Amino acid sequence: MEAKPRFRAWFESLRDPGERYPLDEVVYTDRSGGLLQVVHDLDALRQIPPEEWKRIFEDRAHKNEWPYGSGVWGKKEWVLPEIDNENIVSMYEGHTNLFWAERYGRELGLEDLWIKLCGNSHTGSFKDLGMTVLVSMVKQMIRQGREIPAVACASTGDTSAALAAYGAAAGIPTIVFLPRGKISISQLIQPVANGAIVFALDTDFDGCMEIVKQVARRDGIYLANSMNSLRIEGQKTVGIEIVQQFDWEVPDWILIPGGNLGNVSALAKGLDLMLDLGLISRRPRIACCQAEAANPLYLSYLRGFEVFEPIAARPTLASAIQIGNPVSYEKAIDALRHYDGVVEQASEAELAEATARADRTGLFTCPHTGVALASLEKLLARGVIRRDERVVVISTAHGLKFTEFKVRYHEMQLEGIPSDHANPPIELPARYEVVRDEMLRQIEQRFGG
Ligand SMILES: *Cc1c(COP(=O)(O)O)cnc(C)c1O
Repeated sequence: MEAKPRFRAWFESLRDPGERYPLDEVVYTDRSGGLLQVVHDLDALRQIPPEEWKRIFEDRAHKNEWPYGSGVWGKKEWVLPEIDNENIVSMYEGHTNLFWAERYGRELGLEDLWIKLCGNSHTGSFKDLGMTVLVSMVKQMIRQGREIPAVACASTGDTSAALAAYGAAAGIPTIVFLPRGKISISQLIQPVANGAIVFALDTDFDGCMEIVKQVARRDGIYLANSMNSLRIEGQKTVGIEIVQQFDWEVPDWILIPGGNLGNVSALAKGLDLMLDLGLISRRPRIACCQAEAANPLYLSYLRGFEVFEPIAARPTLASAIQIGNPVSYEKAIDALRHYDGVVEQASEAELAEATARADRTGLFTCPHTGVALASLEKLLARGVIRRDERVVVISTAHGLKFTEFKVRYHEMQLEGIPSDHANPPIELPARYEVVRDEMLRQIEQRFGG
């Protein structure tokens, strides 16, 4: 099942479709400084009928034939058709579980709630989906003789973890710029362990972004942030995978947390391609969910997207989306316009309590997913999302990356947050009678009556 070489894709300016570059050129923006996007030769892709694409994707899923067993590379012709299979750097990312959150949904009065667990991935977040594509392209460029001393990113944690892992797997040097003291310990230790050059800078994410753009421009370092639209090509498989997991049925709503806004753009881009090629015939609605402390898209939404103004993002427990000047805002607004989209926000207390409530039903949610869950509750309460609709929440990272947040919640140490669902360990002397009395009291209190 070797990919047919007749499929092609290229970089194209968002503003001027006439401005194009090959995908193996080192270029991040168009001549006016605007974003590029990867565009595929749709006529070539249309030569394969929709039912045939579905069959190809299903045949490849979970098999071991390199590299098609990966959720991303199983859709290689739609992602990066012209890459050599031996240059692909993959850890069989994608194919994450989409499951029915029965009990949590019932608590919200929602029968048909599903969670797409993108955090069940190699480095514990959806960033793997995009990074496999970007690092593979870098490997191909290096093989072709291009001088690329290293690949670098600014990160709120998860991007750097993914870059470091894929770079290490390929033997390509990586550099990460992190805002000092603003990311979780487990996120910091990932690039450290994978051998990246790790800089902790006295600034926030937006400040790190300024530095990485300079080393890219002046020192020939390859830029791995999502302004590099190669990453979007991998990340766009999430929407395709959701539809595939529902036997090619489109859900009514997809909720997704948004920071730099690459992922919500990617979600729409994958669905767009399915529409263009006839695999689906209707659109889900999309809700992009922001932390109130970092809500420039929400503020723009309130003004009908007429204006977009960057803000200074304030600290939030949802540290991976503490971004005030999101690079992909134009793509995100375009996506939301096409998908009858809404933007919702969640306060620190709302996101923390929603996380804890979901965990009580068996999930183990990261705070960014908490933002989406809190937003879901608000959209349900306002009647924007109806209780008979099929709703998917994209969970962006594994909760185990954010244990300090959970520890502090359950110790009731988070300032301004009630910790309504705190469940701290009960410390007792090791004496049977004492333990028994307390145990029976707890069972009665929690489950009795
Ligand atoms: C990167 C990230 C996001 C935000 O994605 P954007 O593309 O920046 O909007 C959300 N959640 C987690 C866990 C992330 O790592």
